[in-house]
Amino acid sequence: MSCQSCGGETLAVPVSTELREYLPGDAPAVTVCRACLAMEPTDDAPETVPDLTAIDDAVPRNAEAAVPLMLLVGLLDSLALHRAEITALLERVERAGTDPLLVVDRLADSYGAEAHVDLAARRHQLEQLL
Ligand SMILES: [Zn+2]
Repeated sequence: MSCQSCGGETLAVPVSTELREYLPGDAPAVTVCRACLAMEPTDDAPETVPDLTAIDDAVPRNAEAAVPLMLLVGLLDSLALHRAEITALLERVERAGTDPLLVVDRLADSYGAEAHVDLAARRHQLEQLL
């Protein structure tokens, strides 16, 4: 399936029941665009978490940190609306041993204007939430 924002190639990521509460709707999986990092819900859930380091080397290998991280990046297009969810996801990523702001920084460097949101600007807003 290609990205609805830019037509880029996407990765399907299964979302565990405990993480689903942070997403709008009740989809069992999301797609993450490799070109712009936009996220869309999908009913087509793969059995395993793909290698999310394909998105960027900055993304942690461990799915406990990588999945909530990709969800929060996907929600950044409506930070004000999803503030509570984003805060909870930031805390999960931290608990899994990864500094989420550091990864968002690296993604901002790698994706720049290609990203679906201004990651550098959002990173400053995220800092206020922690
Ligand atoms: Zn895209």
